[in-house]
Amino acid sequence: MSVRNLIVENFDQLVDSALNELSNRYEHNECSFEEKENLRRRAVERLPDGYEYQVNAFRPRSKSKFKLCFSSKDVKIDNLEGWLIEFQSINKVTLKVKVKKKATKGYLLQHYYRCQHNTRNLSPSKDPQRKLSLNPTARVKNTNCPFQLIVKVTHCDVCTIDIDWDHNHATDNLEASNFKELSSDCVHKVHSLFEAGETPSTARQKFLRELKSMCKDEIDFHIKKADRSITPRQRDFRHIYEQYGKQKFGGKNEEMFEKLAEKIELYKTKNKEASIDYQMYGGDAVPLLIAIVTPLMNRVHSEVQQCGELIFVDSTSNTEEHNLKVFLLCTHSVAGALPCGLLITSDEKEATLKRGFEMLRNILPESAFFSSGKSVGPKTMITDNCKEERDALKSTWPSVTVLLCTFHMLQQTWRWLTDKNHGVMQGDRPHILSKFKEALFANSQELFEKLYISLLSDKIVQNYDKAVRYFSELYVDREAFALCFRSSLLVRGNQTNNFVESQFLVLKDIILRRTKEYNVVALLDKIVVDLEDHYKTKLLSIADGSYDGHFRRRFVGRGKTSKCGGQGYTTPNEDERRNFLESVKQFPNDIFEVKSLKSSGTRFVLLKLLTVIMSTQCVHLFIILDNKSMSNNLLKHFGDISSSNVTPSNFT
Ligand SMILES: [Zn+2]
Repeated sequence: MSVRNLIVENFDQLVDSALNELSNRYEHNECSFEEKENLRRRAVERLPDGYEYQVNAFRPRSKSKFKLCFSSKDVKIDNLEGWLIEFQSINKVTLKVKVKKKATKGYLLQHYYRCQHNTRNLSPSKDPQRKLSLNPTARVKNTNCPFQLIVKVTHCDVCTIDIDWDHNHATDNLEASNFKELSSDCVHKVHSLFEAGETPSTARQKFLRELKSMCKDEIDFHIKKADRSITPRQRDFRHIYEQYGKQKFGGKNEEMFEKLAEKIELYKTKNKEASIDYQMYGGDAVPLLIAIVTPLMNRVHSEVQQCGELIFVDSTSNTEEHNLKVFLLCTHSVAGALPCGLLITSDEKEATLKRGFEMLRNILPESAFFSSGKSVGPKTMITDNCKEERDALKSTWPSVTVLLCTFHMLQQTWRWLTDKNHGVMQGDRPHILSKFKEALFANSQELFEKLYISLLSDKIVQNYDKAVRYFSELYVDREAFALCFRSSLLVRGNQTNNFVESQFLVLKDIILRRTKEYNVVALLDKIVVDLEDHYKTKLLSIADGSYDGHFRRRFVGRGKTSKCGGQGYTTPNEDERRNFLESVKQFPNDIFEVKSLKSSGTRFVLLKLLTVIMSTQCVHLFIILDNKSMSNNLLKHFGDISSSNVTPSNFT
């Protein structure tokens, strides 16, 4: 019994103390009547203007805490939302719904709101005190704020509102403002930045720069920067980016393939001239493959003669988040590299590449490679020394001669020599490389054989068994890397893969701006739209004469002073032109014999204007063109800037 008494006694005490607490909470006894009136006036000022209020009760607790009950005939169910928004913005607080009760006999509507600093369903991990005791620097949103606002509307359309104004946190400092909700306006702004190709971090920098330019001073900027409803926080940028990527590019998981298929089908229907084929990713055994031939690539195949002679092939990675490989096939022209095909794969296995190149071959136009035919392929291809890639190319186009880029060949040899595991002494490395280089650049096969034997039997090379073995193995591939075996091929001075390498700079620097794309869907967008436009603009700017920079001199020559830069040929003066034109001999089929302008009469160059298409235009061609002695068929290949009868249609 004593135990029970104790409980009752304690329970009574508990109720008493609770009642005391409650009455204390709202009776601010220390203030006079006047002070109380003042506080009441200030409390009513917190309500939105333009509504009539009738205060039913007001109980101040302290200078900043009170309970206010009022009714209003102007606040109705339809404008309640607007009233609440206004109330929140006046008081710099954010309210959340605590509970919405069903209509009863007495009330049509009963809504309970809480402050956002009081999260519902308090979980132990979110308990602010626990969080702060574990980490005193934690950013705590939940302070168990006791604030409450109750809205009730009767059937007679009378609205009563009870406000229990008791925030246990600051509502008017900068920190309070960065807990605000994101406004749809700022989310829209961030979206448009992502739309323009920014990443979360660059988008934020740009956002802050723009914000600063709109603020009247530093203070104004920092106030707006702290306010989350104006400036999203760093993690908000990341979160919005994730949502944006999911919505636009299908996220980073399986769903992105659906989006990819959708995008490809849309591209196909919009671009009838383009051909595109793909194989969706289905695990390691079924790699992702996308072969693309854009309308411009199609035209390059049918219009550019070099396309049938020489194709450069190389791959790059790190263009998007999943590290796909992008293979580009391109050819050379006076306008620089022009693309002939593109392949995206998810790995670099030989079987994948074989399947990929076959896929690309099948979607090429019948007249591909300047009418050589898509199954025949070009005469020559240059790649770097990647076995899988070379084998795949050889199996797709068996009649093609696959050459190796000399730069990569020498780089690969130098890397082999500097590899610690091969044990070549530092002092011996340059000697060995220069011996190999001599053989590589030998201008006849006899000389090559001689120099290669001298390399293998060299005293220094003989000191290293591994080196002898390495160079003996390389010898098997001699026809691919030694220049003497290329004399009969139409490589036109191209011994390296520079043309295609520079295209990856265009892709990564100009198109992707040194950032990884969100996923393959986003990358495809950049390739079929932005990269294609890059080539179109380049070609048209040569045709219309607006092609700027020192490259322009490739086509029109430069002046005679040192100020005119070092690239291109020197434009000849009147006398030189006359002398030159007097010595030119024309043969049938547009073949010309021309005299060297530099050394008097010793060197002769044979030019077949319609077929000799160098990477840069030379002075001889310039004079012949300028003399207008040639038909302007040439213009198809040479952007003759001085001629007015070039129209963009020659190039697109
Ligand atoms: Zn609060």
